[in-house]
Amino acid sequence: MVIVMKNNAAPEQVRKVVEWIESVGYKAHLSQGVERTLIGAIGDGRGKEQIQAMVCLPGVEKVVPILKPYKLASREFKPTDTVVRVGGLEIGGPRLIVMAGPCTVESEEQLMESAYVVKKGGAHILRGGAFKPRTSPYSFQGMEEEGLRLLKKAGERTGMPVVTEVMNTTEVDLVEEYSDILQIGARNVQNFALLKKVGQARKPVLLKRGMMTTLEELLMSAEYVLSAGNTRVILCERGIRTFETATRNTLDLSAVVVLKECSHLPVIVDPSHATGHWKYVTPLARAAVAVGADGLLIEVHPEPEKAICDGIQSLRPEKFYQLMDDVSLLERTLRKEVQKLP
Ligand code: PEP
Ligand code: MN
Repeated sequence: MVIVMKNNAAPEQVRKVVEWIESVGYKAHLSQGVERTLIGAIGDGRGKEQIQAMVCLPGVEKVVPILKPYKLASREFKPTDTVVRVGGLEIGGPRLIVMAGPCTVESEEQLMESAYVVKKGGAHILRGGAFKPRTSPYSFQGMEEEGLRLLKKAGERTGMPVVTEVMNTTEVDLVEEYSDILQIGARNVQNFALLKKVGQARKPVLLKRGMMTTLEELLMSAEYVLSAGNTRVILCERGIRTFETATRNTLDLSAVVVLKECSHLPVIVDPSHATGHWKYVTPLARAAVAVGADGLLIEVHPEPEKAICDGIQSLRPEKFYQLMDDVSLLERTLRKEVQKLP
């Protein structure tokens, strides 16, 4: 249920409404818009009548039920776009944000070179895995804490925030200490214990769609993070499994428009894991920008033929520079706001 306050509602009236919500055993979540305050009342449905009766309280304009199973992630709860701020960047703002780097941190040299390459190309955020979810237990599992240390160093050297995956509840504090955005990978999108744990973190969460999750399920996963108190969630479409085998996954570009319609959260696209081949990455990155994605996640490697993981889908530096030229041209053409910027 959303309690819509009148636009001249006093802070005292908002406080009273919050108290009421909590007194019926519901949780109150405030969404302070420019014009008015909305208060989400989230509970198991038992105090429903009392919440509906709150329309009688001073300062309340109306009480609206949220019909979708996800509440805090819904547009009904927050009609305006959420902008996730990280180190001076705005994800979900007027500019396209590019996160780029190798699939996995392999060595200091490889990571530093990758970081300088993506920075030179105009990327905003450095990506790289230190804890890797691998299908085979015999594959390289990541450099773990040493990898996190290198990521932090590379981020600081190049002036980029860092996004990296966390796979386990017991490693959230550690990953949070070294990174700026916590990535929840496709394979953990419904690891509810992990979602609850990153919901308590102070860093934003990049939530990747699972290969078999519907958009509603993805938003329910986002709801776990939001309801635990972390409002900084970024959604990522990274391809889903279909009958098609020509590409590693099938990039569902309609996810971007559907998610943006149903939710206020920023949406980025990862064409690297979606297609699984470097030659498809740039065309689909262009398509993602055209469809309105707030950002891109791109795998880049200085020497893809030597990559330990996902070399086939990694762009070599010149290809990445070309991608950045293409998408920035598109961005300027498509987004009027950007044309106003210097
Ligand atoms: C990754 O970003 O390196 C990764 C493993 O992605 P996904 O979880 O989408 O497969
Ligand atoms: Mn990868």
